[in-house]
Amino acid sequence: MKILVSSCLLGNCVRYDGGHKLNYFIKDKLGKHAKWVTVCPETESGMQTPREPMHLVNKGDTVRLVTLKTRRDLSDKMNIWINKFFSEFNTEDVCGFVFKSKSPSCGFKSVKIWSENNILYSGKCGLFASECITRYPHIPCIDEGRLNDPDLHDNFIEQVFVYKSWSLLNKTDLQSLEKFHTQNKYLIMAHNPEGFENLGSIISEKKLSTDQKYFRYQSLLMKTLRQIAAIRSRSKVLMLMVNDIKEHLSSDNLTELTEMIDNYRKGFISLRVPLSFLNHYSRVFKCAQFQEQTIFNPYPKELDSSCKT
Ligand code: SF4
Repeated sequence: MKILVSSCLLGNCVRYDGGHKLNYFIKDKLGKHAKWVTVCPETESGMQTPREPMHLVNKGDTVRLVTLKTRRDLSDKMNIWINKFFSEFNTEDVCGFVFKSKSPSCGFKSVKIWSENNILYSGKCGLFASECITRYPHIPCIDEGRLNDPDLHDNFIEQVFVYKSWSLLNKTDLQSLEKFHTQNKYLIMAHNPEGFENLGSIISEKKLSTDQKYFRYQSLLMKTLRQIAAIRSRSKVLMLMVNDIKEHLSSDNLTELTEMIDNYRKGFISLRVPLSFLNHYSRVFKCAQFQEQTIFNPYPKELDSSCKT
């Protein structure tokens, strides 16, 4: 799969001060599983390195990219380049965007927008990142700052790998969609059980064509996966899995698993522990409903936030 990444995060000296913002997790760990589509909107639009720093300024109805001291407005230059970039951008195999935080070009939901004298608001996207998420709302995205938050980190990595498997589906027949839905049952439910039910309704809706089903399913799937799977909802899904397998378990096994899930809910042990036991029992007892469930191994373990350092 390919991931679009802000060039400075891979250690390229393209920042306004001539430096970089190398992120080892992105370059070394995520980089083992992805081909990079490396982009630096500022240098690729013709700006020099080093260069005068810029910020976003609210002018009337538009947001402008303006240099700090000389107050040069570089928005047109940037927007011309952005349009050219997207006219040539091939999204095939692209499963994620990783942006540099706070940048007026690449920043993702963390950029300040200024009036002439004061901050108006923060939490906005830079010009390039904004265009990415508007044009490709289903592709998972994050910035390197958010990767430091374990929940956001794991949520992003999971989205990327689900999106990858989604991209590989043969979208001309409904059986592939039904199989995908079944295999991702518990994983999706951990984010939102209602979302899983609604996804199922899309598949069974008789008035929709296969194309329409795939289109609507993708949209709701990615929206559902963006919701953080909280410990409470994960615990409920684990208990549901125990319930689905309990006919095979001894009362000791059952008690042990229930206690394990309780310990996970209280934060004493990691999610991997009850999942490993459930996976083990499902293999031992050949439980059909657990076959190929993605919740057991949603992405390579070394990409987990707990293995970040
Ligand atoms: S944040 Fe974006 S525009 Fe700025 S140096 Fe990094 S890649 Fe280039």
